[in-house]
Formats: sequence, C-alpha cells, structure tokens
Amino acid sequence: MATSIKPAKVGMYENVKNQFEKAAAVMGLDESVKKILSITNNEIIVHFPVKMDNGTVEVFTGYRVQHNNALGPYKGGLRYHPTVDVDAARALATWMTWKTSLAGLPYGGGKGGIQIDPKQYSQGELERITRRFTYALGDNIGPEHDIPAPDVNTNAQMMAWIADTYMSTKSPAERSKNQHVVTGKPVGSGGLEGRDRATGFGVVVTLESWAKVKGTTLEGKRYIVQGFGNVGYWAAHFMNKNGAILVGVQDATGTIYNPEGIDPEALLRYQADNATITGYKGTQNYESDEFFSIDCDIIIPAALGNQITAANAGSIKAKVIAEGANGPTDTDGEAILLANHIDIIPDILCNSGGVIGSYFEWLQNRNGEIWTMDDVIIKLRKKMEEAFNKVITSSVQYKTDWRTAAYIVALTRIELAYKQRGIFP
Ligand code: NAD
Repeated sequence: MATSIKPAKVGMYENVKNQFEKAAAVMGLDESVKKILSITNNEIIVHFPVKMDNGTVEVFTGYRVQHNNALGPYKGGLRYHPTVDVDAARALATWMTWKTSLAGLPYGGGKGGIQIDPKQYSQGELERITRRFTYALGDNIGPEHDIPAPDVNTNAQMMAWIADTYMSTKSPAERSKNQHVVTGKPVGSGGLEGRDRATGFGVVVTLESWAKVKGTTLEGKRYIVQGFGNVGYWAAHFMNKNGAILVGVQDATGTIYNPEGIDPEALLRYQADNATITGYKGTQNYESDEFFSIDCDIIIPAALGNQITAANAGSIKAKVIAEGANGPTDTDGEAILLANHIDIIPDILCNSGGVIGSYFEWLQNRNGEIWTMDDVIIKLRKKMEEAFNKVITSSVQYKTDWRTAAYIVALTRIELAYKQRGIFP
C-alpha cells in the first residue's frame, strides 16, 4: 500500500484572492481599500552564500513578503520547504494580515522562508543558513517593523539564532531592545511559556466552541490529523485531553490508521526514535490518497496548503474540518464541503492561537515581563473564544459561510483604520 505523500501543489495565492473577492463582495468593501489589500506592500528576495560542511559554498534564495501593515508591524512565520516561492509567501503573508486583524492584534501580515529541504543539511549548516538569511534580510525585519516566527520545518532553536544574529548587528546598548525581532524563541532565550503549544491548543479551543454550537462535546469524537509536527501533535494532545479518539495520522513519511485509537504521546516518542510514524504498534499503513475519507467526525489538516481539493472533498465523511494548517482547503474543495453541509473552521481563525501566543511573547519581551503558563493559556483561550464568537455573529449577520464571515470581521477592522487615517499625502 502506498504511504508516500504528494507535495502540496503551488497556487495558494489564487485561493486567497478568491476568498478575498468573495468576502469583499458580500460585505461591500470600500473599493479603494480593496485595491490596497489586493496587492502585497513589499516582496523581498535575497540570495546569499553559505559555507557547507565539506568546504564548498552554496547560494540559497530566501523570501519575505510583507502584505499589509495598516494595523501594526508585519507578523508571520518563516518556512523551510521545497514549495516555498513568491506565490506561497504572498498567500501566507496575506492570510497573516486577515488572521492578525481577526484576532484583534496590533499587527499586519508577512511571511517568508527558504526553498530548501532541511533534512538535506546538517545542524551546523542549518544554523549558518539561518544566520546568513537573517543577515541578508537586514533591517527588512525588525522588532517594530516585521517580526518572524516558526512555521513548517523551523523551530525555537532557529528563532534563537535569528534573534542572536539580528541583535549582534546592533550596537551593544541597543541589543537587548531587539530581542522581540522574532517570536517562538526557546523559553531560556526570551521565549514564552506555552508558545510551543499555542497553535494546537487554539485549534482545540475552536473545536470545543464548535461542539458547543452543535450542542455536543468532543468526548468520544473520532478524529484524524494530517501533519504530526508542532501543530498536529499539540492539537492531538489537547483533543485527547477532551476524550476524543485519534484514529488516523498522515505526515511526510506516511499514513497510519487504527480504528481502536492511537496514543499521541506514545506516537510522538516513536516518531522521535524512528524518524517516521509508519510502523507504530497497532496501526496499519493506509492509502495516502484515501486519508481524508477515513470514517471520523473531525479532520485536522495541520501540514501544508491545498490538501482538500475537488479530488477528495466529495469523499469526506467528517462533520467538521478544523484548519490547523494555512490554506489546506482550496476553493473547489470548499464548495463541495459546503454543499455537503460540512463545517469548516477557517485557518485564519482556527490556527490563530500561534500568532496570539507570539503577540504575548512580543509583549513580554517589549515590557520586560515574564508570563507564566497559566497567564498564557487563560488569555489565549479568552481571545480565541472571542474571535470564534465574532465569526459566528458575522456569519448570521451576513448569512454567509464561516470563512467569508471571518474575512468580513478582519476586513472591517482594516477598512476602518484606512478610513480614519486616510491615505498619505
Ligand atoms: P512542522 O514543520 O512542525 O510540521 C509539519 C508537518 O507536516 C510534519 O509532520 C510533516 O511531516 C508534515 N508534512 C509535510 N509535508 C507533508 C505532506 N505533503 N503531506 C502530509 N504531511 C506533510 O510545521 P507546523 O509548525 O506544525 O505547521 C503546520 C501547518 O500549520 C502549516 O500550514 C503552518 O503554516 C501552520 N501553522 C503553524 C503555526 C505554528 O505556530 N507553528 C501557526 C499557525 C499555522
């Protein structure tokens, strides 16, 4: 049985534009604001040399797209993956603008990364690639200008290297004022307690809210997760705390299934020891193309974009899709899901726990504070529930689906900022 996964196809920006056009039409977005938001503010492409372990030099290409900063500094992750290009960075940066606005944060949207498969490089090479990328970006990023964070294949260690490199380029007296140039750092280096789990926790808070709307709970619900990295693992961790049952997992190494349930903690340990999820006890390999058709109540896509499409949406039996990933459902797939009355908790709401956690870390660094895990979890839950309720209210008011409703909440806030401030000169 096949277990390898096809890489996500490119073209995510097309989806963002379709979603934006739909929401703009439903809400009657101001035409001038629409023109501004239809395009990205800045697109930075850097080429930079890095010395490899064998003494040769390789030249890498890095991207940082800054979509909009009407509400505050650009904010968004850095991704290391072969699918990173300008189209992907534009899409992901634009989603960040909507996400930060919907969450009520003082941020705009940015995203970037490097088109590499990090598995091909040693830890030392990854450190030099990350540091040199940071240096190449220079003051195109900055604690009050554009603040990166982790995304696919980037982690807390890499954020620490970015912070250290950026701070090293400043004069000694300025260094400590620049720690919040990046979020998602390790706790020992200015990171926030709980930032690691913030996205996955937030995904589950939105599912708890969804269950409440449906007059049920997550107890006993069967679910599958695509991607068992930061978002996928933590989502599974909190789903199981709610008594839900994990029956299928798919990642870049394969697809596993066990109708009796999979323990996410034991799977995490197995994955750490074996560098794969396949072969985990009690599971059978599963046809990768059939993954989303597994009999379950909830699907959590937490990997890449464009995974639920016209090719597989019709076979989905779940009642709700909780979009842990950015852009996992394309426009055609979404139309099929909506026609089949399957709920979609849209990415800009569902995975916004990550950027909310990043905001808390930024505040902590900026204000010289130390937040506790309890502070983070309580405040994060409150913010996620508020955003969820705003989306439901907007969906009732505009008689529209949840994604469009979420866009409307986000766009309304940005539109107001432009109307109040006007356009210089
Ligand atoms: P990660 O690198 O920790 O994990 C990515 C996972 O996806 C891995 O398990 C990997 O094996 C799997 N994967 C990669 N290619 C795949 C494929 N073709 N098919 C199936 N699985 C595949 O990344 P992450 O931080 O967990 O991010 C996952 C998603 O969540 C991304 O879309 C990211 O943009 C989004 N997201 C992340 C955060 C965050 O805080 N990390 C916040 C918001 C949204």
